[in-house]
Amino acid sequence: MAANWKMNKLVREAEDYVARLLPQISDAREVDVAIFAPFTCLHAIARMTQDAPVLVGAQDFYYEDFGAFTGEVSAPMLKDVGAGAVIVGHSERREIFGETNEMVARKTTKAVSAGLLPIVCVGEIKEERDAGRMWEKVGAQVRAVFEYLDAGEIGGDALVFAYEPVWAIGTGEVASPEDAQDAIGKIRGLLGDLVGEGFAEEVRILYGGSIKADNIGEIMAQKDVDGGLVGGASLEADSFAKLVNGAKAVVE
Ligand code: PEP
Repeated sequence: MAANWKMNKLVREAEDYVARLLPQISDAREVDVAIFAPFTCLHAIARMTQDAPVLVGAQDFYYEDFGAFTGEVSAPMLKDVGAGAVIVGHSERREIFGETNEMVARKTTKAVSAGLLPIVCVGEIKEERDAGRMWEKVGAQVRAVFEYLDAGEIGGDALVFAYEPVWAIGTGEVASPEDAQDAIGKIRGLLGDLVGEGFAEEVRILYGGSIKADNIGEIMAQKDVDGGLVGGASLEADSFAKLVNGAKAVVE
């Protein structure tokens, strides 16, 4: 269960959140928990979660290690402040900041080689879904990752995919459990074709888009859905703790 705080929280707020969250999820060891925080909060929360089963990650990075890339942050810099994971290709990066499939593929490849777990986001916009072109879009996004990433070199635990239909992000309009399963099942099938059945079985694929405490159970119950990437409902520690414990109830 992954929290995406987006561009929210000052360091003090991040520390308060983690202090409130940890005791509430201490019985949910079966659930892998990650917090994707702004760069400015990473150091503080990585320190606070050193002995807790919580992975701390960034929401983006650049695929070169250093150099003349004003404003960017590299994989070694993220690792230096204690991050172990990074979101790649979130739809807000793709739609607002013009990130292309090629950039997403380069970032994914770099994250894997640097030892950061990439959460690779894919998803269609509303017009594409309405026109019956969900899979044309999502399939192409998944394929593009493997134009750079040498799948022969990695296991299914080297990366995570997140299917996030753009029309469901921050809108309150959650995909039906059947639609989430349909897209995620197709992604897993494609990974089987591209990389191999063992990889496809092992790799984790999350759903993201208006997850809340009252819909997490039915989404998580879908055969191919391994977890959730959560924006709005992850901003309060109590609410995110409910999702972690909701996921625990499903995996038990
Ligand atoms: C997200 O930003 O990845 C997301 C899924 O947001 P929300 O849960 O708010 O729809």
